[in-house]
Amino acid sequence: MKAVYINEQGDVDKLLYGDLPDPAPGPGEVLVRVRAAALNHLDIYARSGSARVRVGPFPHILGSDMAGEVSALGPGVQGLHVGERVVVDYVVKCGMCDSCLAGQDEFCRRPLDMGIHLPGGYAQYVKAPLANVHTIADSLSFEEAAAIPLVFHTAWHCLVTQVRLRPGETVLVNAAGGGVGSAAIQVARAMSARVLVTAGSDAKIARAKELGAEDGVNYAATPAFSQRIRELTQGDGVDVVFDSVGGSLWDESFNSLKVGGRLVNCGVVGGHRANLHLGLLFTRCITIVGSGGPVTLGSVGRSRREFVEFMRLVNRGILRAVVGRVFPLEQARDAHCLMESRDFFGKIVLRVP
Ligand SMILES: [Zn+2]
Repeated sequence: MKAVYINEQGDVDKLLYGDLPDPAPGPGEVLVRVRAAALNHLDIYARSGSARVRVGPFPHILGSDMAGEVSALGPGVQGLHVGERVVVDYVVKCGMCDSCLAGQDEFCRRPLDMGIHLPGGYAQYVKAPLANVHTIADSLSFEEAAAIPLVFHTAWHCLVTQVRLRPGETVLVNAAGGGVGSAAIQVARAMSARVLVTAGSDAKIARAKELGAEDGVNYAATPAFSQRIRELTQGDGVDVVFDSVGGSLWDESFNSLKVGGRLVNCGVVGGHRANLHLGLLFTRCITIVGSGGPVTLGSVGRSRREFVEFMRLVNRGILRAVVGRVFPLEQARDAHCLMESRDFFGKIVLRVP
């Protein structure tokens, strides 16, 4: 099969396009003919080895977001048939540890991530356990479907599970121009919440409004954005801050919260450290919670249940992927360069031949 793979971690020139053996599905596994794979920053870490991400044996196939058609079923697999259109959940749970058996697969002790520890979606074929393969509506293109899992799973987990967003509440979504931010706006709107955003440019705020945000602040032009957020909330502040940035926006995010507010963090691109005013945390009854994410082993904090929940809304067209640029698989180097430039809006997708 054709695939993009690496034989060692490093710059974009380590991405190689060529032939690798077709995988064969084992017991309980499904072979998927991949049609599209979406990029995430996780792919950059996997390729370069930054953020201490270590990948599976070489040659290693990248890609954690993928969609395609069922090509073959391993022994014992029922419930899907060849030709069905599917999207893949990239976190493979062990199904046997205490957490899995207790119905908390999001805290599986031995999770493995496709595209990191296991072969990923930058290839014509990939195998995945049946539990990781979900059917998609005919109305969804493969490019749209591939652009869904990581960002919508993160947004759903943060807003629905971690801070229990309620209808009518006000959410501030930081970095609204990013993939996770765009997804968070839609999840919050689907929950009938009011959405305010911050972003690094007026153009990104305009795009966020098209996705359902009511108003926004450009934090490049207005670094002290909490003042504006308070003006937009009659002086109260917001119920929830959805933050994928971390350090650089921390103080202003914290100051944007109303009494009893909740802040959920799912990223640290703006810095790993923050000051925390314990007096305000304590007297203002603030909740701060983390999303979970990729660790030494596989990703923690995202459950199979959540995947089913947000895919229902995706299949009904209520949540939509924002697809930006589409590249042919063999141009994966160009796609990685664009991702690293940060000069794009929407998901970058590889179309697999
Ligand atoms: Zn487990």
